[in-house]
Amino acid sequence: MIEGRAGVSHTPIPFIDLQAQRKRLADRIDARLSKVLEHGRFIMGPEVQELEEKLAVRCGVRHVVTCSSGTDALLMAMMALDTGPGDAVLVPSFTFAATAEAVAMTGASPALVDIDERTFNMDPESVRRTTTALEKAGIRAKAVVPVDMFGLPADYEAILPIASDLGLDVVADAAQSFGAESNGSLVGKLGRVTITSFFPSKPLGCYGDGGALFTDDGELAELLRSIRVHGQGSDKYDNVRLGLNARLDTIQAAVLIEKLAVFDEELMTRDAVANRYTSGLRDGVTTPIVPSGSRSAWAQYTVRHNRRDALAQALDADGIPTAIYYRQPLHLQAAYSRFPTDPEGLTVSEQVCREVLSLPMHPYLEPEVQDVIINRILAAC
Ligand SMILES: *Cc1c(COP(=O)(O)O)cnc(C)c1O
Repeated sequence: MIEGRAGVSHTPIPFIDLQAQRKRLADRIDARLSKVLEHGRFIMGPEVQELEEKLAVRCGVRHVVTCSSGTDALLMAMMALDTGPGDAVLVPSFTFAATAEAVAMTGASPALVDIDERTFNMDPESVRRTTTALEKAGIRAKAVVPVDMFGLPADYEAILPIASDLGLDVVADAAQSFGAESNGSLVGKLGRVTITSFFPSKPLGCYGDGGALFTDDGELAELLRSIRVHGQGSDKYDNVRLGLNARLDTIQAAVLIEKLAVFDEELMTRDAVANRYTSGLRDGVTTPIVPSGSRSAWAQYTVRHNRRDALAQALDADGIPTAIYYRQPLHLQAAYSRFPTDPEGLTVSEQVCREVLSLPMHPYLEPEVQDVIINRILAAC
């Protein structure tokens, strides 16, 4: 029995327990890694292609291009769409910096839009408003990057028609939502191109940095494969465009193949953990919602509370770790304060940043431990 510091036992509760999964998969992953060490093809070895094929099957997409991180995947998508100086790309202000950073790295401007307070995802009306304001200022909006915050797909049903109306390409930032679904469509098929991250703490994580891009567009996939390796043409040393060194290591592909094999089972366990939190916490804090037709990958279980900092402190004193994603919206951070924003302001993003608190969440969180967390939260608020 594991309890917090205030309980009888002193085993610490981890925020994300990667060791439980490690114990379960150790033999299989170690065997895979030994094979890579023996064949020695550390760059673009056979495991990379095997993983890409398995990911394509899992998501029902034609093309998967693995790469070095979620951030590089975003940058590759922007480069493939020829985003650059003079362009604007709509990005939610409530997200991890990489979403906007990749846009800015191409010389384009991230235009920061507001979110919906119930889903933490991009507000489609804010996208429309901001695009219209950009046009009036003579700035061309080129693309929109919906982010599937905490694992829940953005409101694609509303965003896709607006994007098509306004002539915007859709680059889906699914760094947190691999495995999730929206209205019967799997993540990977929701935008023209979708990116994900295999950072260790993401729902499907490797043992270092990694990422991937998903698309049904064969030409775009070819472009991405070229950008991944210095913009190479048909010959390795014939560079037809600018690119990057953005390959996924063979070793990380080997790890991911074994983790993918148990991923769907882990998704179901994440669902069960989330449901237990929601039914236990509903009366104490604002619990996250999953709109009907959607499925979350539960990268985080994030509640809202108007005395968030006091709640986090009380839980910390009880040995229960929490995290704040995110404390500041992008438009209030120095690196992004000069970029355009929704003309009506970003009040929801600012409010949510004061209230969010993410709780321990992983597929190996035991019900008894969860009940300790739930009871402490109810007692603290
Ligand atoms: C983690 C994350 C990224 C970046 O992924 P890395 O693999 O860490 O580079 C991008 N966008 C969002 C929303 C993320 O959560």
